[in-house]
This record gives sequence, C-alpha cells and structure tokens, in this order.
Amino acid sequence: MEDCIFCKILRGEVPPGKGKISESDNFVAFLDINPEKEGHCLVVSKAHFETILDLPVGMGSELLTFLKEVSLKVMDKYECDGFNIVQNNFKSSGQVVPHLHFHIIPRKKDDPLNLKL
Ligand code: 5GP
Ligand code: ZN
Repeated sequence: MEDCIFCKILRGEVPPGKGKISESDNFVAFLDINPEKEGHCLVVSKAHFETILDLPVGMGSELLTFLKEVSLKVMDKYECDGFNIVQNNFKSSGQVVPHLHFHIIPRKKDDPLNLKL
C-alpha cells in the first residue's frame, strides 16, 4: 500500500519512531510513537492486512509465539507486572491505522490506564 504509514515504515522509507524491538518472519514489533505507557509497542504484520479478518489462519501460531516473545521482552525491559494486548478492527472500533497491528501496553501496580479508543 503506497501511502500506508506502517507499510512506509516496513519499507524503510520512514523510521519507526522510537525503535524496533524485534521481528519474526511475518511480523515486526516497534515502539508506539504516542505511547499510553512507557514501552507501549506495536506488533505489526509485514504484509498489508487491514484487519485481523485478513490474516491467514496459517500465520496464527507464529503470531501468538511472537506476541508472547515481545510481551515477555517488554515486561522485562520496562520492569512491569503485567500488560494489555489491544487490537482494533475498522474505524468504528477506534482503528486509526488500517494495517493490522496489536498494541502491547506494559502495566504496573497502581498505574491506571484510561484508553481513548
Ligand atoms: P490504532 O488506533 O490504529 O489501533 O493505533 C494506531 C497506533 O499507531 C497509535 O497508537 C499511534 O500512536 C501509532 N502510530 C501512528 N503513526 C505511527 C508512526 O509513524 N510510528 C509509530 N511508531 N507509531 C505510529
Ligand atoms: Zn500497510
């Protein structure tokens, strides 16, 4: 997709922002440019799928493995006790970037999160 911001980042035309965390064959994780919490990152498909409905089922196992790997890395790096995984599909759900992604948001005790979805 020519003008998709995540496709531009994946093609290297735009820097991801505050840094890439890791990648697998079909997914990449980088820090969100406008984090809800320190360490808030995005797991993004390398291919331009608009929503989770477009993701081939065959990539499900790799996705779950990668989500777990990135979540553990973020928990360790940002010394948090928990994390939220948030994933929006279509505008009415709050999806702003129409390219499949999962938010991983680190959480600490007594540190409330008020998502503006
Ligand atoms: P959505 O509302 O679509 O689920 O979330 C899109 C997320 O992408 C937002 O949290 C926003 O801060 C993040 N984002 C938008 N543009 C960029 C960018 O250029 N770089 C990075 N790292 N994150 C972005
Ligand atoms: Zn895209």
